[in-house]
Amino acid sequence: MTDAVLVLDMLNDFVTGEIAAERAGNIIPTLRDDLLPAAREAGVRVIYLNDAHRPEDTELEVWGEHAMRGTEGAEVIPELEPEADDDVFEKRFYDGFRGTGLDEHLRSLGVDRVVVTGLHTNMCARHTSASAFFNGYDIAAPEDCLDAFSQEAHEGGLEYLEEVYHAEVTAAAELAAGWSS
Ligand code: ZN
Repeated sequence: MTDAVLVLDMLNDFVTGEIAAERAGNIIPTLRDDLLPAAREAGVRVIYLNDAHRPEDTELEVWGEHAMRGTEGAEVIPELEPEADDDVFEKRFYDGFRGTGLDEHLRSLGVDRVVVTGLHTNMCARHTSASAFFNGYDIAAPEDCLDAFSQEAHEGGLEYLEEVYHAEVTAAAELAAGWSS
C-alpha cells in the first residue's frame, strides 16, 4: 500500500481569518508534531490542497470571499508550512481533485491510498474523498487530523466517509505506527 497524505485548507482564512473554525486548533498539534513528521520520515508524500479562489468561483456565493488567490488568507498557516519535499496544489472547489491534476500526480507516484486531513470533515474532506473513491483510491480518515465547525458536523462527516466511501476511520498514531513498521 502506497500512501499519500492530503492536507486540506489549513490556511489562514480557515483557521484565524474570514471563515475561521475555532476547532481547527484541535488538529494543528497532531498534524505538526505527529502525522506529518511521521509521513515525511517514512517517505509518504505530503500534499497540500489549498483554496485559491478567483472572484467568479461559485463557492463564494455560499461563504463570501475567502482564501482569495495570492492573499495572505490563502496561505498555509505558519505552524504547518510545507517543507521542500511536499507538494502544494491550488484548488477552486471543495473537491481537491477537480481541475488540479491531483489524480495524475498520485498515479505518477504510485499512490493507492490517500490519508485525508485538514478542514472540513463534512465538506472538503467529503468532496475530495468522493473523487478519491471514484478514481479508485482507498481512503484513510484520521479523526484527530480532521475537523469541522462543530462536533456534530465532524462526527457526521466521518460517518459519511466510512459509510459511503468505505474510508477507514483511524488516528494519527495508528497511521504512524503502520508507516514505521
Ligand atoms: Zn473555498
